[in-house]
Amino acid sequence: MATLPNMHDAEPIPEEARAEIDRLLQSGDLFRYTAPEDAPVTLLEREFAELLGSRYALAVSSCSAALFLSLKALDLPRDARVLIPGFTFAAVPSAVIHADCVPVLCEVGMNYRIDMADFEAKLDGVQAVLISHMRGHTSDMDAIMALCDARGLPVIEDAAHSLGTRWAGRNIGTIGRIGCFSFQSYKLVNAGEGGVLITDDPEIVARAVILSGAYEHTWKKHTQRGDNTGALEAAFARWQNKLPLYNLRMSNLSAAIIRPQLPHVARRVRDGLRNHDFVAARLAESPWIDVPAKLPPEQRAPDSLQFNLVGMDRTEMAAFADAAAAGGVKVQIFGLSTDNARAYWNWEFLPEMPDLPATRAMLECACDTRLPARLTLEDCALLADVLVQAAEDVMGPLRAYGT
Ligand SMILES: *Cc1c(COP(=O)(O)O)cnc(C)c1O
Repeated sequence: MATLPNMHDAEPIPEEARAEIDRLLQSGDLFRYTAPEDAPVTLLEREFAELLGSRYALAVSSCSAALFLSLKALDLPRDARVLIPGFTFAAVPSAVIHADCVPVLCEVGMNYRIDMADFEAKLDGVQAVLISHMRGHTSDMDAIMALCDARGLPVIEDAAHSLGTRWAGRNIGTIGRIGCFSFQSYKLVNAGEGGVLITDDPEIVARAVILSGAYEHTWKKHTQRGDNTGALEAAFARWQNKLPLYNLRMSNLSAAIIRPQLPHVARRVRDGLRNHDFVAARLAESPWIDVPAKLPPEQRAPDSLQFNLVGMDRTEMAAFADAAAAGGVKVQIFGLSTDNARAYWNWEFLPEMPDLPATRAMLECACDTRLPARLTLEDCALLADVLVQAAEDVMGPLRAYGT
């Protein structure tokens, strides 16, 4: 019987990384601010900004650090209320708390996207909005931006899992005032750890650069080539010595691992989408599995698969997960697995624990499985068969229906 590859194995790091890492090990030049110019981290920032089409990028130690610095860069008052979706990873409310702000959670629907009525109802009284595109699922960014712009609310995009995703032709991460991405191993570009924030706003990037640990005049290594407006330099001068230094910088070694992966992003996005849509089409044959549709303006870049179990009780859902595991496919039901970091009720550190019945209902039937871009369509067919068969094993054969 054919078997599936280990879904947690990453793609090999491109060979070109080795020569650069060797050079760095030889010279010991690992700190981003040692070289007078063109350090690997600086080059990564330029290349990433160019890839996304934003003016500025700041590479840091993680996406969580990027989210924290984004909130700090906005200069929000202590205890500012920040609206986030109720479906995200625990790192997101954690970054809000780290920034001395209070997370306010809004409902997310069965399609993993923000419930716009609840979002609008909760906007009054918040001072910033952090849209976490959880698992790369994009909420209605047109409606979100219209509502936030009308109130003058800054929007941060948590695009940790959305590299390569587009909304109406625009790159996710460039729609809000700041976009944050992750290079943690389970994301599209893998450096083990790492993150980057992008923005077009010189004031915000200047603050974030200093906060990230650009002490003294090391910020001079961030001035953009071809930026003749002087806006960035003026912003740096304005914030000199005014901000704490949190030291969340990226090492040159991480940049050396990330840079050669950037030319592979387009292929990974293409293959990930092909795999996802192939599996989703097969799963549509099962009456017990629903893969929610994306919103029309979204072009996805998935590297994992989420679907809802339909018409199963908890025991049946657990049996489904067991049957899938026996077939070699690990499925996590967000709301049923113990201590899941994506189930909001497990964020017991929240200063205010909300009741989100719609989000809870979704989490209690929504399944999560990895679907790496490197899988072949044969692998994908096998994976889909395992899931369809697992549902059938639990709920009985399809032909029992309609007879
Ligand atoms: C992975 C992830 C994060 C955290 O990224 P780190 O780089 O590990 O800090 C935040 N938000 C989402 C949606 C993620 O998927």
